[in-house]
Amino acid sequence: MKFDGDYAMTIGGKAVTGSATFDVVNPATEAVIAQAPDATRAELDAAVDAARAAFPGWAATPIDDRRAALNALGDAILANIDGLKRLLTAEQGKPHGDAESEIGGAGMWLKGAATLDLPVTVNEDSAERYSETRHVPIGVVGAIAPWNFPMILAMFKVGPALLAGNALVLKPSPFTPLTTLKFGEIAAGILPPGVLNVVTGGDALGPWITGHPGIDKVSFTGSTATGRRVMQSASATLKRVTLELGGNDPAIVMPDVDVAKVAEELFWAAFRNNGQICIATKRMYVHTDIYDELKAAIVAYAKTVRIGDGAEQGTQIGPINNKPQYDRVLDLIGDAKDRGYSFLIGGEQRDAPGYFIPVTIIDNPPEDSRIVQEEQFGPVLPLIRFDDLDDVIAKANATEFGLGASVWSADEDRALAVARRIASGTVWINETQHLTPLAAFGGMKQSGLGVEGGREGLLEYTNAQTVTRRRS
Ligand code: NAD
Repeated sequence: MKFDGDYAMTIGGKAVTGSATFDVVNPATEAVIAQAPDATRAELDAAVDAARAAFPGWAATPIDDRRAALNALGDAILANIDGLKRLLTAEQGKPHGDAESEIGGAGMWLKGAATLDLPVTVNEDSAERYSETRHVPIGVVGAIAPWNFPMILAMFKVGPALLAGNALVLKPSPFTPLTTLKFGEIAAGILPPGVLNVVTGGDALGPWITGHPGIDKVSFTGSTATGRRVMQSASATLKRVTLELGGNDPAIVMPDVDVAKVAEELFWAAFRNNGQICIATKRMYVHTDIYDELKAAIVAYAKTVRIGDGAEQGTQIGPINNKPQYDRVLDLIGDAKDRGYSFLIGGEQRDAPGYFIPVTIIDNPPEDSRIVQEEQFGPVLPLIRFDDLDDVIAKANATEFGLGASVWSADEDRALAVARRIASGTVWINETQHLTPLAAFGGMKQSGLGVEGGREGLLEYTNAQTVTRRRS
């Protein structure tokens, strides 16, 4: 596969360059690196028509053949890992090593999803009647992905949607369209035409998808604010929706941890992917007995971390992906400065190209501060001192979000007891951000609706159908 030149949408198995384009910017340099197709309404209609036409054949394809296709697709991603990772770094900003992990994870995600099964439930098997419930595909799925992990988060949808027998129209973020466009090209060589369509465009395209009468389900990953709009728009035709939204994940660090051992892990829990992870640790509550020691260890480690262009050897943290997000993070830092909070590291702004923000750690800001209450989605971490466990659990839960959380302790039973009191879709103990295609992942409260992953996630791409037969 070639990784330069034209970028085309995949519609009905064909490359469509589109009638208009938009700029794609490298966030490390602010240089325009490519033009992506800006889909018109007619081009989206063509993608939906192609998916509708492909759906009956794909739904009728034996599940083992669909499994084989997903495995082939996963293998093809892995075979193109080098080109895809460079492209991902160029458009997203993340270091090559992280980009390689994401692309590798995307390939493995499809292969992992391919091992799932659709259950059949026998409701009754009596002399009078036989009744069973099976799970049938929904139809055409509109899949909408964000810019922080464009490839793997798209595969969270592609794997189960295709395994269940649906056809797809996939839309990446306008900030990171290129890797997904290349993925569409790869898929066109493996899947029947129309089963997987990739469209790219500006701000109009997402709402066109969520309102499209030819789309039966929307699977959306992005912010809570946009998630609300998606749900509202999908309601017009009662589309099924899965919403994976924002988070404000707390970490609760108990006094019995080995500070030297966990400091580096806790740092990356917050700063991996430059903090642009839905399940990044966004508030770190540290017990007062170890607060000063852990603070010193995290800050000492933070000073060793190299920030730069993700394409340069040795870079550990790249730029923020895009200008609007860069401005949002700077605004939060500005607010913390205006209110006189104490900065342990970072906080300064550079005057050079690229959306770079230094690693910034704020010392014990008040609980009601914006940096504690809002989702920063960037390299700014509030470290917060606690001494009462009930109080810190109440604070962890006092948010509209409920995506992830972590508890850190040498005593697993104690950590488990804390974990069970936290209202979030996932709680990790002594680690964070571990996800697998075999386990359900989703948000409580306003962090989402439904789940991805595992059998539960697969079932969200199906309708339950009960067939009851009377025995004479
Ligand atoms: P976003 O909501 O701005 O955009 C997400 C996607 O939706 C993009 O493709 C965008 O083009 C599209 N979109 C924008 N407006 C739309 C509309 N009205 N209708 C339909 N589609 C629309 O989110 P983002 O800034 O790209 O991503 C960051 C957010 O995503 C953060 O809040 C983060 O926590 C969240 N996120 C959640 C998960 C999860 O699994 N829960 C994973 C990653 C990111």
